[in-house]
Amino acid sequence: MPGPRQPEGQQARARTSATIQRIVRSTAVADFVKRAHDYTCQVCDIRLANPTGAYAEAAHIQPLGRPHAGPDIAANILCLCPNHHVLFDLGMLTIEDDLTVTSRAGGSHRARLREVASHQVGREYLVYHRTHHSAAYFA
Ligand SMILES: [Zn+2]
Repeated sequence: MPGPRQPEGQQARARTSATIQRIVRSTAVADFVKRAHDYTCQVCDIRLANPTGAYAEAAHIQPLGRPHAGPDIAANILCLCPNHHVLFDLGMLTIEDDLTVTSRAGGSHRARLREVASHQVGREYLVYHRTHHSAAYFA
C-alpha cells in the first residue's frame, strides 16, 4: 500500500520580512532553575548529556504571554526535558499541590515532581495551570 505522497518542497526558499513583538525572558532565571536541577527533568529524571554539558528546558507554569501574564520568576518555572515540556504546555501533564504528577494520556510517570531546597515551585502557579487546562479540555 503506497504511503502519502511526498511534498515537493523547495530548493531555494523565499524570504519575507516581518515585525514581531516578543516577551523578553530572563535567561538568568531560566539558567538558575536548570542549574538547580543539574539540567535533569523534574518529572522523569532524564538528563540529556552532550559534549558541551547537558540540555534541559525551562518551562513556565503560568505562561508569560497574554492573557496569562505569568511572572518570569524561578517559582513559576520547571526544569523539564523537551517531551515533558510539550506535554506540560499542552495540559497533558498536570501537577497537584503535593507535587503528584498526573497524566491525562495515561501511561506511567514519576509519582511526584522532584523539588530541591534551592528551587521551590509556586503552588499558586500549579493551581493556575490545572485550572486553565481543565477549563480548556472540559468546558
Ligand atoms: Zn522528562
